[in-house]
Amino acid sequence: MSADIVSPAKRRRMMQAVRRHGTDIEIAVRRAVTRLGHHSRANAASLPGRPDLSNQRKKWAIFVHGCFWHGHRNCRRTKGGEAGRIPVANKTFWEEKISTNRTRDARKAQELRRLGYRVLTVWECDVKNAVRLERKLTAFFTACTESERRARTKDGAHGKLIPSRRRPVRRDRRS
Ligand SMILES: [Zn+2]
Repeated sequence: MSADIVSPAKRRRMMQAVRRHGTDIEIAVRRAVTRLGHHSRANAASLPGRPDLSNQRKKWAIFVHGCFWHGHRNCRRTKGGEAGRIPVANKTFWEEKISTNRTRDARKAQELRRLGYRVLTVWECDVKNAVRLERKLTAFFTACTESERRARTKDGAHGKLIPSRRRPVRRDRRS
């Protein structure tokens, strides 16, 4: 391991910039989600952790995380020694910060799951590969549709057929 090539202060500014302007990857994910035909809302403040993308009616939430800040384990990017590996200078500082982020991320995801949400984390390194990103999102939405369908079946079994708000149950047309 080599020493950090930038000063701690500069490194901090760089990292803050990553966080503040980390929207490129969010935009890429939002575009991919839209392309797959799903409606999403950005940064819903009413949901735990303000997920980057969510749909409250469909009950899913997606977090888009920077690999360094959120401590992506087994990451191609941070393991590869590219930007994002923990700097040797101030190592403890960064490790604590990242560990705090990881704990908070896990707690927020848990809170969402308790509210009945399906939660997906898309990592920065996933976004670098369009094919991988699309595959990941497709698998997630397939699982969402599947659990939605199961929930409907369960309601039906209990005799509670809830008519969709968008398409009211059609009346018999024989008259
Ligand atoms: Zn990663």
